[in-house]
Amino acid sequence: MMAELNTDVRYIKGIGEKKALALNKLGVFSLYDLVSFFPRKYEDRTAFKPISLALDGETVCIRALVAETPRLSRVRRGLELVKLRAADEGGVMDLTFFNQPYVKDQLHRGESYVFYGRMEVSGMRRRMVNPVYEREGAEKGVTGRIVPIYRLRAGLSQRDLSQGIRRGLALCLDSLPELLPEPVRRSNQLAAVGYAYENIHFPRDFEALALARRRLIFEELFVLACALGRARGQRTRAGGIPIAGAELREFWASLPFSPTGAQRRAVEQAVSDLRSGSVMNRLVQGDVGSGKTLVAAALIWYVWKSGLASAFMAPTEILAEQHFQTLSAMLSPFGLRIGRLTGALGAKEKRQVKAALKAGELDLIIGTHALFSEDVEYKNLALVVTDEQHRFGVSQRSALIGKGARPHVLVMSATPIPRTLALILYGDLDVSVIDELPPGRQKVDTFTVDESYRARLNNFILKLTGQGRQVFVVCPMVEENEELPMKLKSAQEHAAALARAFPSLRVACVHGKMKPRDKDAVMTAFAAGETDILVATTVIEVGVDVPNAALMIVENAERFGLSQLHQLRGRVGRGAHKSYCVLVSDADSEEVRARLNIMSKTSDGFQIAEEDLRLRGPGDFFGSRQHGLPETHLADLGADMDIMQRAQQEAAALLGADPELSAPEHAALKERVELLFRRGADSLN
Ligand code: ADP
Ligand code: MG
Repeated sequence: MMAELNTDVRYIKGIGEKKALALNKLGVFSLYDLVSFFPRKYEDRTAFKPISLALDGETVCIRALVAETPRLSRVRRGLELVKLRAADEGGVMDLTFFNQPYVKDQLHRGESYVFYGRMEVSGMRRRMVNPVYEREGAEKGVTGRIVPIYRLRAGLSQRDLSQGIRRGLALCLDSLPELLPEPVRRSNQLAAVGYAYENIHFPRDFEALALARRRLIFEELFVLACALGRARGQRTRAGGIPIAGAELREFWASLPFSPTGAQRRAVEQAVSDLRSGSVMNRLVQGDVGSGKTLVAAALIWYVWKSGLASAFMAPTEILAEQHFQTLSAMLSPFGLRIGRLTGALGAKEKRQVKAALKAGELDLIIGTHALFSEDVEYKNLALVVTDEQHRFGVSQRSALIGKGARPHVLVMSATPIPRTLALILYGDLDVSVIDELPPGRQKVDTFTVDESYRARLNNFILKLTGQGRQVFVVCPMVEENEELPMKLKSAQEHAAALARAFPSLRVACVHGKMKPRDKDAVMTAFAAGETDILVATTVIEVGVDVPNAALMIVENAERFGLSQLHQLRGRVGRGAHKSYCVLVSDADSEEVRARLNIMSKTSDGFQIAEEDLRLRGPGDFFGSRQHGLPETHLADLGADMDIMQRAQQEAAALLGADPELSAPEHAALKERVELLFRRGADSLN
């Protein structure tokens, strides 16, 4: 029997209402979603050994006969043990199951089973604790094969998923759409879709798994590249407001410093977009502190000279406020009328600002997402600038374009993305890179230390705060379902500990679970110098400017990616004060040391991003979702650069031949490409 791919998962045999709800939480709604829910990892349960040959600590499958009736004992309240002995021809092992009383009735004396687990050998004794087992010859398949391991939610077990997916695949294996055009599949030697889905879940062997992964990774990147490439093509073909503009010399001359060559170049590239008659969609990518705001200011000025208005969108209220100050200082002397629109404004003020926008009485409006809510109308909006692009999704970018007559869009980002990835990630944008810092910028001295330096570090905090400086302390975000028993510093606990350690200092804490308004209040107080130490999760990663902060401490630094550490480090060294970054890590692996040491060696964001990519693979770039693209499964699968490049090239070639994917043989691909952005629209931010 064949089923429709969009069949609701709850109708699949063995799933039902309750498990369907749990699956929904994992983003699985339809049969197609279910079979596209790829394993997080695999367990190799293919190795079989006789009991006597299994080594201590080895994880193996053992075929053995249950030699005695299992005994259930209640050791104390909350601790029940089932014990038994199993044997094969040459050996005997003890089996112990903790708190699984039902095992007693499932294992029968005199019958053969396959046990999969970790063998413990001490002297002549061999034993396994809590092995997975099944009757020999059983078809369920949890031993003797490569077993998929899925992400789970409460109410779901590995078995639920693997059985559900097995049934799901049986229902739709032949009706899975082939998204890859035949010639692409052939020239890149990619497995067919059915084979790939089957073997990504239930690989016959490791070779089959590798083929399946390669094909699916390729497909995912190919679809993404097609989607972005198509968006870019549509934009280039559509007309934009041509802006004749003015000589920028007048603007440059008004500055207290001269622009760097890179700033000038970025502005010139954008200006040529604005004059072109096509809609600009440009990304300005520059390291923290490279002076992106100035580039935006120059363009806002340029647009104003033609009698048109700009909107500047920041990711948080505090950043909107900072940009309001900075841009007002630069631009109001020319006579630009500048307003702000944030959630913090009162209802009356908001009404006034909106009325002014509608009447065309403002030349620049600065704000948060509020700028693009439905009831905001613009009269002569020609340019939209968004700061810190990674907080906004592709689909939000296109929502902006709905305001006004196709305004030009300038996106600014400090997330340095290596070129190969940028091709795909920013496939719908033109890119200007600011690869030069303003002169006289100080290097932030960076050190990696372990717990034994704690006392010295505390003294350092005292010394700097004694000089009037402020300190950031960043703790890793501990995710809710984190299973690791590692000692991770939670921001709140660490803040409490610091407050005890430094009774004379004012310590504040900010984390992602706080309401945006409360978060902004804590940040604003810190920026105003009202607190000495700000303990935070990575919520402070994006652009806040506190020139008085001279020390950034990152706890459990091994938990962060290098690019993220670089962003964090960029929060200090923004003023005249000598600044420092201390990475605290007790992880004693060579690899972690090597990674963290890169931070001490270079302050070049691009170089760091390249290293990060080399060390961690591209999965993390896609996985972190900082780019605001639709979610991919690649974080789970990993991908190599070679596939990425091939997928990008093939997509470009295909779009060259069929820009709208309107050929009948591209119908499935087109549908998927469109779905990607529709889905992205609900799931971003
Ligand atoms: P970011 O790229 O991180 O957004 P900003 O635009 O906030 O950087 O600029 C960082 C600082 O550098 C600001 O204080 C700004 O005034 C200063 N700055 C920008 N361009 C120059 C320049 N060409 N020369 C000197 N200082 C500059
Ligand atoms: Mg900035």
